[in-house]
Amino acid sequence: MSENDDDTPVVAPRPPRLIVAGALLGAALAFAVASLAAAQAPARAPASAPALPPVSMTCPMHPDVVEGKPGTCPLCKMNLVPVRLDASWMCPVHAVVTEQQPGACRLCGRSLVPVVVSLTWTCRGEVNAEFLEPGVCRDGSPRTGRRTLRPHGNHNPQHGGQFFMAPDTWHHLEGTLPRPQLFRLHIYDDYARTLPPDALSAMRGRVVTRERFDPATRIVTEQAAFPLRPSKDGKSLEATIDRAALPASMSVKVRLKPDAPEYRFDFTFAALTTEPATPRAPLAAAARPSDGSAPAAPSPEPASVAAANPPAPEYSVPTAPLPGTMAELLAELRRRRDEVQGLIQKGDFGAIWVPAFQAKDVAVALEPHMDHLPPQSRAHAEPALGDVVRTAWQLDAVGDTGNAQDVGKAFTAFTQAVARLLSAFSVTP
Ligand SMILES: [Zn+2]
Ligand SMILES: [Zn+2]
Ligand SMILES: [Zn+2]
Repeated sequence: MSENDDDTPVVAPRPPRLIVAGALLGAALAFAVASLAAAQAPARAPASAPALPPVSMTCPMHPDVVEGKPGTCPLCKMNLVPVRLDASWMCPVHAVVTEQQPGACRLCGRSLVPVVVSLTWTCRGEVNAEFLEPGVCRDGSPRTGRRTLRPHGNHNPQHGGQFFMAPDTWHHLEGTLPRPQLFRLHIYDDYARTLPPDALSAMRGRVVTRERFDPATRIVTEQAAFPLRPSKDGKSLEATIDRAALPASMSVKVRLKPDAPEYRFDFTFAALTTEPATPRAPLAAAARPSDGSAPAAPSPEPASVAAANPPAPEYSVPTAPLPGTMAELLAELRRRRDEVQGLIQKGDFGAIWVPAFQAKDVAVALEPHMDHLPPQSRAHAEPALGDVVRTAWQLDAVGDTGNAQDVGKAFTAFTQAVARLLSAFSVTP
């Protein structure tokens, strides 16, 4: 029986889903890109310096929260702090390879994955001096630009599996099913780096392939559970499981530190997991933009911020242009809610942030339309709109953590807020 959630019902069994390996950008990236796109006039450094991405406001505790203006975090109410975010491309195994263009790693040839970096500038000899813009140091030399991977800036699975973030917002997990009876759990830190073997061997967990919820006693009974143990190479945890038939749903219940609570992660595999292919030979020139210049020699340093004009990101932002009329916006909101529901039913929690993010945008776009409502409806619409925005953020956050029960609760709160907003606008939910 589960130790931390025995008083809450398990969700109904989920239908199969297609594992989308590496195709989804992290939510943090979407917000960074959205804030880039939202900037009307990017700040310009003096002289011929390239345009900089805008300064955004982020929560010190929730790096996924990125807003265009100062305020407080919608999740924890802390004051937001300024940060200059940019999109980059990084090798999944060589963090020093951070490029401004998609391509292949110059060290190993793997495809680069989209990540979020923060841009800062420093001065030699001035400790603790970190600036959000280029400029001149006290000794007259120009400040040195730096691209630093943001915590949570890389939410890409590295082994073709399903990727989640632990509720402690530091550990990240990727589950794979390389063989019908082998479940493998890769565990990373907040920069998507694999944890050392001693950290893994201190973890206690199991894979549950069957459990039953008794509605009378509200107790969850595990009917088939298999211990997770360090793999031979020490790089992951593994469990030999009973489940061979696909699609396969299973839960991981794991204590990531001896004194930590037990967390639950719900995985659904539509197919066996395959590792992304690794080219045989390093491709020295592949990571360079095809601008006709000779490939540069591999450098141990990340590209300098000031080295080149940051190109426009080449991947699409999941924010389609919003429709204009109130009726269209309300229909759009219903559509996004239904999309979230469809993803939840598929067990595709990692993708929820896309329609949740869009629903938040639609709600914000509805704000001016509240002026046309009679005072009584308006009094209902205003708090409902705030709740749609807040619960959309929660859905986004909880989708990352891959706990089916938490996702279900957040979706209920979101649906209720959407229903209240629709009825304030006299629309049937
Ligand atoms: Zn926060
Ligand atoms: Zn590499
Ligand atoms: Zn994260």
